[in-house]
Amino acid sequence: MKKTLEKYFSGMKLDYNIVPQTTFGLGGYIRYYLPVKTTEDFVNAIKKTQKHKIPFRVLAGGSNVIFPENFDKLLIHFLPSNDELKTIIENNSILTEANVSLNKLVEISVAKGLEGLESLIDIPGTIGGGIVGNAGAYGQSISDCIDWVEVFDGEGIKKMSNEECLFDYRDSIFKKKNLFVIRAGFKFEKGDKEIIKKRAEDIKIARRLKYKKGLRCPGSFFKNVLIDNISQESLKLIDKDKIINNRLPAGYLLEESGAKGRSCGDIFVSDFHSNVLINKGQGTYTQVKTLAEELKRAVENKFGILLEEEVRYML
Ligand SMILES: Cc1cc2nc3c(=O)[nH]c(=O)nc-3n(C[C@H](O)[C@H](O)[C@H](O)COP(=O)(O)OP(=O)(O)OC[C@H]3O[C@@H](n4cnc5c(N)ncnc54)[C@H](O)[C@@H]3O)c2cc1C
Repeated sequence: MKKTLEKYFSGMKLDYNIVPQTTFGLGGYIRYYLPVKTTEDFVNAIKKTQKHKIPFRVLAGGSNVIFPENFDKLLIHFLPSNDELKTIIENNSILTEANVSLNKLVEISVAKGLEGLESLIDIPGTIGGGIVGNAGAYGQSISDCIDWVEVFDGEGIKKMSNEECLFDYRDSIFKKKNLFVIRAGFKFEKGDKEIIKKRAEDIKIARRLKYKKGLRCPGSFFKNVLIDNISQESLKLIDKDKIINNRLPAGYLLEESGAKGRSCGDIFVSDFHSNVLINKGQGTYTQVKTLAEELKRAVENKFGILLEEEVRYML
């Protein structure tokens, strides 16, 4: 594999330390690492993997991923960018490349008085990663403002409508199919600039209290649970006041199941939120998996509810 990869990917690095590129700080050394800066290079790299049948994964902002220590595929890193030139603003629409930081898009929309994504202020990562996981916070999701998404499907580039992306809570078609996000078009409502700014500022303050700078974590670990998916038996066991927007916060279920104080090696449940797992520094994939399984078991035993990971294991 090494010889083939070196032949086709001139910018590839061997044994690259991925730890600083992920917010959870896991993964160690990646055997085959290919950084790409432009959309064109991203597409060309994927094209080559298809042609030569090379197994690969895509990394963007690294804020929602967990790498095993023995990751042995080619890792194509679509390097995040804060370049405003990668965004085009027209009336109430913004077009961006997938590797633009999500926060940049939010900042631009807020500054222009465009309403709809201000609650996503300060969410780490890129537009591409945000679209894959339909990132959101405080009642808004990236999909609320998506007009279309341009993807590379391994053969050609195509434009998908919002409906075709099958967005759902922290979910999209991109989690299930090999479609790579390269660009997106956003449509906003014009709002009151001062009100939008204030809302974004308030949320930023709340978020920074929760996630201290440099905290080694991937955001919320498990997804909140849709009430419609909970059995009548389980519903009897929960405090109905905890339901928000027809979802039961995973943090509540974990808290009630005694998650706080649990740990495995260097990975531990934070003391400020039961749905945030933190890496003390030397955490490993195995430790994360062990603790995650233990937490899932605890919630299932107590409530009969199976939690699902929001984070992505890079297998
Ligand atoms: C402190 C902190 C707070 C957070 N708060 C929130 C929050 O409030 N709400 C929320 O929703 N999330 C939150 N997150 C999680 C994370 O920021 C989001 O999921 C983010 O959108 C991930 O984007 P990324 O660019 O970092 O993707 P990565 O982590 O690099 O990748 C995530 C997945 O997307 C795939 N991917 C990335 N780019 C592409 C592409 N162009 N085409 C196809 N696949 C691609 C990757 O292969 C991987 O499977 C938080 C994370 C942290 C660390």
